[in-house]
Amino acid sequence: MARIVILGAAESGVGAAVLAQKKGFDVFVSDMGKIKPQYVELLDKHGISWESERHTENLILNADEVIKSPGIPDTAPMVVKLKGLGVPIISEIEFAARYTQAKMVCITGSNGKTTTTSLVYHIFKKAGFNVGLAGNIGHSLALQVAEKDYDWYVIELSSFQLDNMYAFRANIAILLNITPDHLDRYDFKMQNYVDSKMRILQNQTSDDTFIYWNDDPIVKEELKKYPIHAKMCPFSITSKDAMAGYVAEGEYVLQGQPPFRMTQSELSLSGKHNMYNSLAAGLAAHEAGICDEVIREGLATFRGVEHRLEKVATINGVHYINDSKATNVDACWFALDSMTGPTILIIGGKDKGNDYNAITDLVKQKCKALVFLGADNQKLHESFGHLGITIVDTHSMKDCMDACVRLSESGDTVLLSPCCASFDLFKNMEDRGEQFKEYVRNL
Ligand code: ADP
Repeated sequence: MARIVILGAAESGVGAAVLAQKKGFDVFVSDMGKIKPQYVELLDKHGISWESERHTENLILNADEVIKSPGIPDTAPMVVKLKGLGVPIISEIEFAARYTQAKMVCITGSNGKTTTTSLVYHIFKKAGFNVGLAGNIGHSLALQVAEKDYDWYVIELSSFQLDNMYAFRANIAILLNITPDHLDRYDFKMQNYVDSKMRILQNQTSDDTFIYWNDDPIVKEELKKYPIHAKMCPFSITSKDAMAGYVAEGEYVLQGQPPFRMTQSELSLSGKHNMYNSLAAGLAAHEAGICDEVIREGLATFRGVEHRLEKVATINGVHYINDSKATNVDACWFALDSMTGPTILIIGGKDKGNDYNAITDLVKQKCKALVFLGADNQKLHESFGHLGITIVDTHSMKDCMDACVRLSESGDTVLLSPCCASFDLFKNMEDRGEQFKEYVRNL
């Protein structure tokens, strides 16, 4: 019996274990951290062997194949050892896809994945498709393949998942954008990260569709390097020429016979970045054969995703916006770009190799104050200290919010869009967003 070892026992790892067990493999799950009780319960329910807070070499190195959680870097000692032995290492998505005939709509990009994935899913559900939502959202693909029988999956793919995907084929692939992110996991080499994102194209055939943001300079350059077999569907908000979808003069258009048209103001999501997301999602729905009325309804009724430019409340005339998910500079750029009044920007956290130059102009234009929120704000001081804007240095949400309240007046916006990961002061970005909202609710 072939032995499958799974490294990392969270959503994807445990899902992969359940599927592997069902497919008759000898399965072992190992996690260096403490496995959460709900996952222990699921593993035990299926009689799967596991270990927590350690990696036992002789139970792992004898694997025929390893499924690695996307959170574990290639530099982890056990991964290095497995590679040295030539043991194949794949992602949970790669594994799960072997056991389903369902069609795959896959979304990647540096920013906008969750929003676009959720929007595609929303439209597919409205169309009455038998569809599952997977990847970084909801339940793992593997668990759903083990337990459900969907015809379609809408999957959010991170670069870390793509890194360990080889034979997987996306029927409809969406590449939203490529801007610097996670460089700490890619030897601080942008090209390594770019290569990883471009893997979404691999194995696509002439029966498939590739939807991409045509205005992205990196994507444009990269596409010259690859033989592309899939139908190309570029989208843009700066040009109509040869675009499969575009927004121009307040109108949202998807090419077709006849073209699909709706006014931009009918789209439920606002902001420039969400025009891209709405175009990508509309094109995917269109390519899946969903009729215009349903696409229109889907685009008009989607409610957005928590922690992404989420309007929390207006108190004493001050607007509070939670964009805790802005964990890189580009996401913050789009948030600032959409600000219409004086803004107090909360920025900081665990820096992932950020270059803040990209937002300097917008900070100068839009921000009346910056509130730094991180364990170590040194780099922020170096990047913004010379701008002559009021800066307050804080290390807890309470101090940060007290400062925001002190600095703000009616008509201002307090924007949490930190450019950084949250792990220095918070459990995760959700915890950061929740603490922000909690404070606002108690004002
Ligand atoms: P991801 O899943 O790729 O991290 P999200 O949809 O969760 O993307 O959004 C992450 C952050 O990026 C949020 O701050 C959001 O407002 C911003 N954002 C969403 N879509 C885009 C886009 N197309 N381009 C740039 N930023 C975006």
